[in-house]
Amino acid sequence: MKLVDTHCHLFWESFSDDLPEVIARAKEERVGGMIIPSTNIETFHRARRIASDFPGVFTAIGIHPHDAAGVGDEGMEEVARAAESDEACAVGEIGLDYHYDFCPPEKQREIFARQLEIAKATGLPVIIHNRESTADLLAILREHQDGKLHGQFHCFDRPPDVAEEVLALGFYISFTGNVTFKKSRLDDTVRAVPDDRLLVETDSPFLTPVPFRGKRNEPSYLRFITAKLAEIRGVDTEHIAAVTTRNAETLFHISVSG
Ligand SMILES: [Zn+2]
Repeated sequence: MKLVDTHCHLFWESFSDDLPEVIARAKEERVGGMIIPSTNIETFHRARRIASDFPGVFTAIGIHPHDAAGVGDEGMEEVARAAESDEACAVGEIGLDYHYDFCPPEKQREIFARQLEIAKATGLPVIIHNRESTADLLAILREHQDGKLHGQFHCFDRPPDVAEEVLALGFYISFTGNVTFKKSRLDDTVRAVPDDRLLVETDSPFLTPVPFRGKRNEPSYLRFITAKLAEIRGVDTEHIAAVTTRNAETLFHISVSG
């Protein structure tokens, strides 16, 4: 069974020298699908060029909370246009980040809410980034959830009770390399997510799993994350591959052969 890396920033500069090799290694490790979330309009255009060069690579359009300062009506129109095209399989990554100070929280909330409405209007799922902003983020989602919102909480690192709230809102939960870290306290959260809501991702080039922690991350390392999830959940990796690939295909309306 193929795997889907639902979150890898292949447009990042650290991939500019060896992207074909990176993608070839991913395919060898049976990563048949890779989704590149963008962070602004410029990275979306870089991502869509990569997707058109490599089969199995898909893109999403979104303004990351770090990049939301200075985005106005024109930027939102560009996001809407890209979302309406058939080039984006999701709106993302979008959300809130109160850890860094690149954009005032109020502006982050405005741009997040506007992109939720774009997702609803186009029927696309959303890819959600949340850092130290859980309460506000869930409040905004509740406000906008009318049954049409669906999507993925990427790089999930919250306790099981937050996972329950996210699941109750109808969202999928995605785990990355931090589940492999020695100090990870995510085991109970990993067990709290049912098979039909589970996704995997590398968040490349960040959050490199053990045993490559500290080096650049890449989609071929997804195998370390699926193996760890299998261990925590007491199932075999084949089962994790089967359910997460089926979920990615369902949520993002993509098809990954095999
Ligand atoms: Zn990301």
